[in-house]
Amino acid sequence: MSEVLSHNALKKIIEYGTFYHLIHDNPSAAEWINFWLRGLHPEDELVGIKQGTEALVTELVKFLSLPQYPSIHLYRNHCLNAIHQDENNHLRLILETHNHENITVRTRHLVLAVPQSPLKKLLPFFPEDIGRIIDAVIPVPLMKCFFVTKTPWWNAKTKPQTRASSIPARELHYYYREESDEKRGMVMVYGDEPFMNYWKFFVRNEPHQKAEINQDERLIEQYLKYLTPHPASLSPKERKAQAQAITCFGIRD
Ligand SMILES: Cc1cc2nc3c(=O)[nH]c(=O)nc-3n(C[C@H](O)[C@H](O)[C@H](O)COP(=O)(O)OP(=O)(O)OC[C@H]3O[C@@H](n4cnc5c(N)ncnc54)[C@H](O)[C@@H]3O)c2cc1C
Repeated sequence: MSEVLSHNALKKIIEYGTFYHLIHDNPSAAEWINFWLRGLHPEDELVGIKQGTEALVTELVKFLSLPQYPSIHLYRNHCLNAIHQDENNHLRLILETHNHENITVRTRHLVLAVPQSPLKKLLPFFPEDIGRIIDAVIPVPLMKCFFVTKTPWWNAKTKPQTRASSIPARELHYYYREESDEKRGMVMVYGDEPFMNYWKFFVRNEPHQKAEINQDERLIEQYLKYLTPHPASLSPKERKAQAQAITCFGIRD
C-alpha cells in the first residue's frame, strides 16, 4: 500500500481502518482472513442475531437435551480444572461445580473451545509444544458500549462512523426506529486497542463476563461529552434533558 498511497493516507487507514491496525502484530493468515472477509462484505450494516449469540448456545442445549440423545450428558456451569491421562488413553476430567465441589468425568476425546486466558490456566496439563501454540495466540481485547435515547439527532440514513473522529473509538454505528410518534435511537461505540483503555474503567464487575446494563452512570457523561448534537455548546438545561432522554445504556468488554 505504501507504494500507491501517501504516508498520511496510510496513517489514516492504520488509525481508522478496523483491524488494519493489527498488521503490526503480524497475525496468522488463518486469523487474518476472518477480518478481511468481514471487511470485504459489500454491505456496510452490522448483522445481528435475534436474541444475541447466546441464543445459539441456548438452542444447542435444548437440542442436546432431547430424549433421543440419552447418552449425551451435559455438565453446565461446571469449570474444567484439571485433565489427567489414564493408562488406557482415556481422559479424566476434574470439573468444579458452582458449589465448589469436584466431580470426575471420564472421556475418550476432549475438544476445548475456550479462549487463550482460560487455556493458559490449563497449561500444566498440556505437552510443552501445545503451550507454545497457546502462547502464540494474539488476543484482541475489545469493548462495546451502547446508548438508547428518545431524542436521537441521527436517523435511519445516518452512516456508520459519522463523527467517529471526535470520540475515542474505532467504530460508531447508529440505529433508528420510529413508531407512531415515538422515536428511538441507539448508538453503538466499538473500541479495541488503544481506545478501549479509555472505556475499560467504566466496567465495574469482575470477572468481565456479562454486559453491564445501566450501571456506571459516568457512561452517560461520556454520551453527553461525545455523542450529543453539539457537545461543546450544550447548556446545563440541554445536558439534563439529553441525560434524561437516555432510556438504557450498557458496556461489555
Ligand atoms: C465486547 C465484545 C464484543 C464482541 N462483539 C462481537 C460481534 O459483534 N460479532 C462477533 O462476531 N464477535 C464479537 N465478539 C467476539 C465473540 O464474542 C467471540 O469471538 C466469541 O464469543 C468466541 O466464541 P467462543 O465460543 O470461541 O468463546 P467464548 O464465547 O469465550 O466461550 C468460551 C466459553 O468457555 C467457558 N470456559 C472458559 N474456561 C472454562 C473452563 N475451564 N471450564 C469450563 N468452561 C470454561 C467460558 O465461560 C465461555 O462460556 C465480541 C467480543 C467481545 C468481548
